[in-house]
Amino acid sequence: MDSRLMQLVVNGKKEDDNTYVYHIDGEDYLSMRQLADYLPFEMTIDENTNEILIKKKDTDEVPVRKQRELPEKADKVRSMIKKYEKRLYEINKSIFDHPEKGNQEHHACQQLTSFLNEVGFEVIQGLEGKIPKEDKEVFLDTAFKAVIKGKEPGPVIAVMLEYDALPMGHACGHNLIASSGMAAAIALAPLMKEVAGELWVMGTPAEEGGEYGGKIPLLHAGQFEGVDIALITHPGDRWDTGADFLAISGAQIEFTGKPSHASAAPEKGISALDAAIIAYNSIEMMREHSRSDARIHGIIKEGGTASNIVPERAVLSYAVRALDQPYVEVLKSKIENCVEAGAVATGALGKVDWSFGYSAPINVAELDHMVLDYARLLNINEIKQWEALGSSDLGNIGYEIPTCNLWFKITPEGVLPHTHAFLEASGSKDGFQSALAAGEVLAFSALELFENHEMVSLIQQKFHKEKESLLSQ
Ligand SMILES: [Zn+2]
Ligand SMILES: [Zn+2]
Repeated sequence: MDSRLMQLVVNGKKEDDNTYVYHIDGEDYLSMRQLADYLPFEMTIDENTNEILIKKKDTDEVPVRKQRELPEKADKVRSMIKKYEKRLYEINKSIFDHPEKGNQEHHACQQLTSFLNEVGFEVIQGLEGKIPKEDKEVFLDTAFKAVIKGKEPGPVIAVMLEYDALPMGHACGHNLIASSGMAAAIALAPLMKEVAGELWVMGTPAEEGGEYGGKIPLLHAGQFEGVDIALITHPGDRWDTGADFLAISGAQIEFTGKPSHASAAPEKGISALDAAIIAYNSIEMMREHSRSDARIHGIIKEGGTASNIVPERAVLSYAVRALDQPYVEVLKSKIENCVEAGAVATGALGKVDWSFGYSAPINVAELDHMVLDYARLLNINEIKQWEALGSSDLGNIGYEIPTCNLWFKITPEGVLPHTHAFLEASGSKDGFQSALAAGEVLAFSALELFENHEMVSLIQQKFHKEKESLLSQ
């Protein structure tokens, strides 16, 4: 039995050979939950008594958990990061000082690719993409792919970078995402000749939006084909992995009615606004019967031009989110019914255009725990469950390929991205040091995957099993 679990059950009360009852206080909960996920134990919590029941699972599944230690090559990883620290900082600072919006990150792209080239990666700068909606081909000139091959074929591990900025500068800290991924890449580069597999560094532009976007057109054009596991980081107010991202779909809803004089001939008019109000209210009612993780938010953008004209046109803008993609699809079809209700009731014509969307990643506990274990081994103790719910194009990668996102702390708790305080932290030396630590964690994680191919297959199996069960709901 895992020694940490052993310690916990010793403090608990033994009911029989397979069952323990443990009384939890505060933060114990998180470590218990994480342990229970990857051990062959089931954990249930009685919220009234604050007791948890640990029971052996009815399964023959072999526990994969082992006590992790720093890899044998840890010193080599560290000395490479140390060796290039100054250079990494210069690149970090120059990206921070030259913020570029999505699909315009020419400076960042040039800085990153030339360094990758220098340390031995084969770099393709500028990649073909494909916009899924229209199946339109686009060329993403600020995307890139850098590859180093190992001594023989094996798993392909991709480290993704982001480097686009917001209109207010690097207030999402994507300069630090690039720096952490680069730290991992340069540390692993000389070690690749000792392992089997391939390391890919994927430069993914425009996470915050841009003319074409980044990960979605790249994914749709097959640029991630062959990747077994993808890794990425993001700065935040704590360290964690396995955070929930919400799948999101956005819609533009248009109603077309028939204009008429609102006083002289109201009976000849069809009000598009009435149709929009019926749809709006129906969607509000539907919310009560949706899952608690669902988020449905919308506005009325247009509702007529003058009070004495029956409105000919009304436009609503909506976004719908949930923890998994299949449930977003369920909500989308319900919203379409609400639009039809407005159209049928008024005689107006209703049209829904699902204009954009991100999927939600499928998190694999074994992968997330592995990465977090290495953070713990670096004595990082500000690990806390990530709670803020957002959406990202990372979700589309994580819906197709097992992906781990490592949050790393650069701000005091409660200071979140897209704020002035976060902007300041993203440009700070402390923020950069935190990014280097995150890079070290990614390097150790990638090393384990290159050296333990069974772990790679296990993560993939779990991923596909989870996806199947989501789709069969
Ligand atoms: Zn952001
Ligand atoms: Zn971001």
